[in-house]
Amino acid sequence: MEINVTKADESQLKPKPTDESKLAFGNIVTDHIAKMEYESGKGWSDAWIEPYGDLSIDPAAMALHYGQEIFEGLKAYRGKDGIYLFRARENFERFNRSAARLCMPEVDVDLAMAATKKLVLLDKDWVPRTSGTSLYIRPTMVATEPHLGVRPASAYLFFIIIGPVGAYYKEGLNPVKIYVEDFYVRAAVGGTGEAKTAGNYAASLLAAEKAKEKGFTQVLWLDAAERKYVEEVGTMNMFFRVDDEVITAPLTGSILPGITRDSVIQIVKNWGMRLSERSLSIDEVIEAAKNGSLQEAFGTGTAAVISPVGQITYKGEDHIVAGGKMGELSQRLYDEIVAIQYGEKPDPYGWVERID
Ligand SMILES: *Cc1c(COP(=O)(O)O)cnc(C)c1O
Repeated sequence: MEINVTKADESQLKPKPTDESKLAFGNIVTDHIAKMEYESGKGWSDAWIEPYGDLSIDPAAMALHYGQEIFEGLKAYRGKDGIYLFRARENFERFNRSAARLCMPEVDVDLAMAATKKLVLLDKDWVPRTSGTSLYIRPTMVATEPHLGVRPASAYLFFIIIGPVGAYYKEGLNPVKIYVEDFYVRAAVGGTGEAKTAGNYAASLLAAEKAKEKGFTQVLWLDAAERKYVEEVGTMNMFFRVDDEVITAPLTGSILPGITRDSVIQIVKNWGMRLSERSLSIDEVIEAAKNGSLQEAFGTGTAAVISPVGQITYKGEDHIVAGGKMGELSQRLYDEIVAIQYGEKPDPYGWVERID
């Protein structure tokens, strides 16, 4: 597979962050971008890499009007003896499922993987070294055909941008406060909730902003039909440990099938703990919090890995979880997943791929 590379010249290179301990999430991009174009009738062009820069896009480009946009989020990790990707093919397989849901063309997973590796290696000096940091990878596809009128577009741009990141939440591994939203909903079964597409996030902003004003980090979404069952939070799937049962919502179509979620499920089962993918009502969670059987709650996602929940607020009542601290299982899972991602521990699951 030929992936043409045009390197940025000296004058186009950006300064790299000098203090990695201050890295936040999502503010910095590297020197290059990978691209590929699609036209119906012709299919995908070859992929190429060029210096990072603005896109030129027609104001009538359909992504800007009708929301045909999908994305992915994965990371490259600098371990002691190399750079690693974690379950990356699965990100592109999910990308293709998102594409199918939004009537967009699927990409060749091998080509997308090759472009990702080539881009990361070209900008490998940007992969940070400090513990807890990584290089975030954002594959994206947008409809570029200029046309006003609702139908699937005939032309698309696929691109990958990358950038060094630190902790996703300013809290880091400190427990977050979540607000149970009982009016607004994120996604309904039959909608686009299981696709990583821009509209889902636009739809979530108002509730998230209102929760933020009240001092919460995230919103916990309930199911759209009954506002009864817990689904997920902003960009994370949710797990609750009630006594010795670890519970996460089933993939019914309205939640994002997280790769971290799946990793946690496999690890927890492998550790011999009881793991249930089942509907869990918010009343059951609150009851467990009140009677002391809710041992801990945490969110999972590529950006934050494991994010412990220290407080759940529902209908005006605050419920402290795990004494407001990071729970024992959350900590153990975080340590295990991070050790595998950075190549510090044997990977019995076949999840990591060393690329350098
Ligand atoms: C990306 C995302 C997740 C987490 O998925 P991972 O594959 O674990 O990163 C969970 N929920 C939503 C809404 C997401 O966008």
